[in-house]
Amino acid sequence: MSEPATMRCLVTGAAGFIGSHLCEHLLALGHDVKGVDTFIPYYPRPMKERNLATALEHPSFRFHECDLRRDPLDPLVESTDVIFHLAAMPGLTKSWSDLDGYWTCNVLATQRLLEASRGAKLRRFVLGSTSSVYGGFASGDENLPTKPISPYGITKLAGEQMARAYAVAFGIPAVTLRFFSVYGPRQRPDMGYFKFIEALKTGQPITVFGDGKQIRGNTYVDDCVAATIRASRAEPGAIFNVGGGEAVSVWDVLAKLESISGRKFKVHQEPARAGDQQQTLADTTRIRRELGWEPTTSLHEGLTRQWHWQSSLILN
Ligand code: NAD
Repeated sequence: MSEPATMRCLVTGAAGFIGSHLCEHLLALGHDVKGVDTFIPYYPRPMKERNLATALEHPSFRFHECDLRRDPLDPLVESTDVIFHLAAMPGLTKSWSDLDGYWTCNVLATQRLLEASRGAKLRRFVLGSTSSVYGGFASGDENLPTKPISPYGITKLAGEQMARAYAVAFGIPAVTLRFFSVYGPRQRPDMGYFKFIEALKTGQPITVFGDGKQIRGNTYVDDCVAATIRASRAEPGAIFNVGGGEAVSVWDVLAKLESISGRKFKVHQEPARAGDQQQTLADTTRIRRELGWEPTTSLHEGLTRQWHWQSSLILN
């Protein structure tokens, strides 16, 4: 199936890490983009405003500050071809102490957006989900059992199920993407690589949880965005893993960052946290076969770009 020359896109979570990159890539491809975000203070609003700055300069971009949990959504969804729903409360750790926030942003907000989509003639509803729906063991293809072990994973899986139910009941053309640890410029400050780089900048020690042998198949943000855009022409109902091709341990990442920065880490180890995954490595055979997507950014290149972005970042 081919993409229409110009898609009218709605991107939720547009001021976030992945959403802001997605908006810029869609605009560069010539699409019209409405961005939505409510600047949840999970991390500082000025960081999110900076994320949005480039898209805001583009004539085909409109931004709506709106909360998907309570604001009217019909006017936003109207005249839209593709919804890219990335708005969420992310991260495992905080989900244990803010179930209301995770439940309302990841489930209720998703349900309200799906409900508003019933009246629209959508080509696709692309849902950004996560490897956390798999739980402690997340290495394999999309048929792995979904046994989340954190409220975050549970609420994201509930969002997926909501999209599936709306697809069956009302024909919403939903496609689900399960992202595996995304990194690159604008990465969220609660994420591991961001913290590692801050520690290198300031000389503070870092904490490695568990034995440091946890395996990750990290995804560079441009590769994640390319997969997300391709999903706008996937078969409705499809679920795809989206993950980078290199399997690395925490120690591998630290060694690469030391070589890129020319600095040394001070490492402090602590036991693994509740809900941490020992191994997340995507089998991406399906998305490669059906959408012709493959990651193109090496870990070394991606970390170098994140290092350069973060080196000049002043946190506020
Ligand atoms: P992010 O926090 O940077 O972006 C999410 C944005 O959604 C935020 O700017 C937030 O303000 C907005 N938002 C949340 N609730 C909202 C609401 N009710 N109304 C309007 N806006 C709202 O997070 P991210 O890392 O860019 O993640 C984007 C998506 O990708 C999320 O759905 C997340 O679950 C998923 N994901 C991310 C990763 C990763 O490694 N970053 C991995 C797996 C899945």
